[in-house]
Amino acid sequence: MRAWSQAERARGRRIGFVPTMGFLHEGHLRLMDRAKELADRVVVSIFVNPLQFGPKEDFTKYPRDLPRDQQLAEQHGVDCVFVPEASDMYPAEPLVRVSAGPAADTLEGAARPGHFVGVLTVVAKLLHIVAPDLGVFGRKDFQQATLVKRMVQDLDFPVTIDVLPTVRELDGLALSSRNSYLNPDQRRSAVALSRALRTVEQTWRSGEADPAVLQRRGMEVLRTPGVEPEYLALVDEDLQPVSRATPRSVAVLAARIGATRLIDNVVLGEGVAADPTVRA
Ligand code: AMP
Repeated sequence: MRAWSQAERARGRRIGFVPTMGFLHEGHLRLMDRAKELADRVVVSIFVNPLQFGPKEDFTKYPRDLPRDQQLAEQHGVDCVFVPEASDMYPAEPLVRVSAGPAADTLEGAARPGHFVGVLTVVAKLLHIVAPDLGVFGRKDFQQATLVKRMVQDLDFPVTIDVLPTVRELDGLALSSRNSYLNPDQRRSAVALSRALRTVEQTWRSGEADPAVLQRRGMEVLRTPGVEPEYLALVDEDLQPVSRATPRSVAVLAARIGATRLIDNVVLGEGVAADPTVRA
């Protein structure tokens, strides 16, 4: 991988990189299209990273379909699909890992201890291996995108990070590889996540800036049959809780639908309706 990148760069080509865990959907494909627009060569990695899964999480059953992923990547003009084995990425248990401190211990980090150490460690390794000029991430994983941007800034990685809006289905459900776990009833319940975000956003737009009130309104909508809310919070761009909601505040949430854990978020000033939608 590194030799390929070095050769491309020696020819003066800018490299764009989209890290994924595969089972590609339209959300991933938009990231690839953006990388294609901004760079001369596009690399996509497909790696279900064991380091970011908790012992009771879905690492072994995470959906995988490499032939289909390779075909989709090719159709979207990807030049290189990097599919390392876990034994290549982690020939030994890594002693040194990347930690973001307290900002990684809230929200997703609180629900999934160690998750962001796993994420940042693998992203750091992938950025070193692929050595891109540009990395493209999705806002769907808001805390992840924020922590990756800060890692790159704080640790002087020579790469620009671009974050794209969440791609949604027509009813508002954010695309996710994990949506494939949902049965038809659960899929219908799952619309509660984006509905709750819309409620927060509309309540804010009607003049309410108290995060406790916004949180309560959102929770009322999230708490529907079949949906078990985990958290709903209002944070700023640095993941800190806000005392008053502003257009830059982000409503972030997680909920369980049966055994499936889903997350979503909205930037209040942008709104769910501003996100791109696709037919499933
Ligand atoms: P994953 O394969 O789930 O690890 O995601 C790989 C990249 O795709 C991450 O940067 C995600 O934030 C991004 N992504 C996942 N779902 C979406 C979506 N619905 N819209 C935009 N980006 C997404």
